[in-house]
Formats: sequence, structure tokens, C-alpha cells
Amino acid sequence: MTTKTIALVTGANKGIGYATARQLGALGMTVLVGARDTGRGREAERTLRAGGADARFVPLDVTDEASVAAAAKLVEQEYDHLDVLVNNAGIVRADGSALPSETTLATMREVYETNVFGPVAVTNAFLPLLRRAPAARIVNVSSEVGSIAAMTNPEGALAGLTSVPYPSSKTALNMITAMYAKELRDTPIRINAANPGYCATDFNSHAGFRTAEEGAEVSVHLATLPADGPTGLLWGFRMDEGG
Ligand code: NDP
Repeated sequence: MTTKTIALVTGANKGIGYATARQLGALGMTVLVGARDTGRGREAERTLRAGGADARFVPLDVTDEASVAAAAKLVEQEYDHLDVLVNNAGIVRADGSALPSETTLATMREVYETNVFGPVAVTNAFLPLLRRAPAARIVNVSSEVGSIAAMTNPEGALAGLTSVPYPSSKTALNMITAMYAKELRDTPIRINAANPGYCATDFNSHAGFRTAEEGAEVSVHLATLPADGPTGLLWGFRMDEGG
């Protein structure tokens, strides 16, 4: 067993997840690099280790219950507990011209499997290990497009967006975060949703105006909250406020 702080980041092989793993590693944590593809996961483990992080690849496809269970078992056997869980893995998909009326159920299901059911499956599988930590932190990586207020403000920066699957998946994730916070309010566990801002990653063909490292800072902040820190919040970059 180890006394080091153990952090698991899902979808950590690239983008904001990779940057989050790098930053948590730089803080001295042991970072478990959750990735669904062995080659990509091992490569991320290798580069993180080359940068000085105590990184270890953990096979984890958040849409595959057996994979989630196997990851939880591995972490329990090797580390006994988990201090930080960052539910970062996410996908974006849209049909046609991204109007609600053109949205297919297949796309809705695909996005929800990863962005909604994935964090619930992973959180529930790891909660017994998070409860064993002195003060665990859970971060659900969400988005400003999950805010009904931001998406329906006719004057706002998101006024033109119409797509249903991705934004609504993040709305659901925000509610899920709030409900876990309610259940866990009498424990030392803090759970919050992170809004990284529009970051240049493969996710948006690198169109974002923030870097993955900047986006990751939001997750790292929430992953390292003090004991009297907030729980049940959506926190981070606000498009309408420019920061
Ligand atoms: P990327 O596309 O760069 O990375 C997504 C990561 O998620 C990859 O590692 C990918 O793995 C992984 N992933 C996807 N599906 C699964 C799965 N089923 N199981 C495990 N891992 C999976 O995206 P970003 O880094 O930009 O996004 C990270 C998070 O930030 C997402 O939740 C996204 O919604 C959120 N976000 C991003 C914003 C942005 O502007 N970039 C803005 C707001 C929120 P693989 O390489 O195998 O595909």
C-alpha cells in the first residue's frame, strides 16, 4: 500500500485529460492514466513518466461495464483507495445540421453512453475506494453548453448553438454532480463539475482559443480543493464573462 495521493483521470491519453494527468503528476500525485486504447494509454504513460510524473496506464473504457469493474479492481488491489477521480472522458457528435429535429436516437445514445452513463458507472465503481481516502475529490468535466441559461440567452456567446446530444449530456452531468454532492454532503468528499472553456484539442479540430493546459487547470483546482471547499458546483471558465 502507498501513502501517496492517488488520482485517476479518464480519457487521459490526450487533450485536457492528458494535461490534467500531467499537472496532477507535477503536484506529486500518482496518476492513473485511464485510456480505452492500450497503445494510446501506454504512450501517454511513457511521455508522462519521461516528464517526471509517477504515471501508470489503467485500461478503462467508460462505456464498458466490465472494463470499469476491472479498473476498480486493479486500483483496489494495487492502491487500496483513490483520492481523486476526474471523469474527463467525453465525446461530441451531431447529426445533419445539428438541429434538434435532425437528431437521431443513435447519436443521443452514443453521446450519453460516454458523457452521462460513463461518469455514473465510473463514480459508482470507485466510490468505495474514494470513501476510504481521507478527503476524496471527484471532478466531472462538463461544459458551459450544459447551462440552460447560457444556451438560451439570446444575447449570449452561445446563442447560435442548436445541437441537442452534447449540450444536454452536460446538463445531465451537472444535475448528476449536484445529486452526488447531496448524497455525500456529510462526508469529506467534494464533487464538482468543471468547465474548462473552449480549448484547442482534437475534440474541436483545435478550434478552441484556450490551451488544454489552461482547461486542465480548472479540473486540477477542483481536484485539490481544501476541506472547506465547495461541493455540487459547476465551476470554471465563463464564455459570457470572458473568463
Ligand atoms: P479529446 O477528444 O482531445 O479527448 C477526449 C478523451 O476522451 C480521449 O482521451 C478519448 O480517448 C477519451 N474517450 C472518449 N471516449 C472514451 C471512452 N468510452 N472511454 C474512455 N475514454 C474515452 O477532448 P478534450 O480533451 O477536449 O475533452 C475532454 C473533456 O473536456 C470532455 O469531457 C469534453 O466534453 C470536455 N470539454 C472540452 C472542451 C473543449 O473545448 N475541448 C470544452 C468543454 C468541455 P481516445 O483517444 O481513445 O478517443
